[in-house]
Amino acid sequence: MRGKMSLYIKKGDTVKVTAGNDRGKTGKVITVNPELGTVVVEKVHTVKKHTKPNNTNPTGGIVEKNLPISVSNVLLFCKNCNRGVRVGFRFLDDGSKVRYCKKCNEVIE
Ligand SMILES: [Zn+2]
Repeated sequence: MRGKMSLYIKKGDTVKVTAGNDRGKTGKVITVNPELGTVVVEKVHTVKKHTKPNNTNPTGGIVEKNLPISVSNVLLFCKNCNRGVRVGFRFLDDGSKVRYCKKCNEVIE
């Protein structure tokens, strides 16, 4: 590992998967782990788990669980470019740090 990364991916982002079994898929980021450099993306790297009935799931059965993937295997999805892109950081006049698409130069919220 390269140590703690400054992650350019945030919770709620739409990302495109660039490696692994789910390559090409896009999904929403559910959680980010900056310590491990991993993200959990909706419907990506899912496993089916059989569960016994419990409080949260009274009937039990099969639940789909998302496993974390390395942040290096995803790219932020740029709506403008309609593809996964590399992003850079830029400071606005008010000092706030924003991300921008290195392809089209648009700020990504
Ligand atoms: Zn773009």
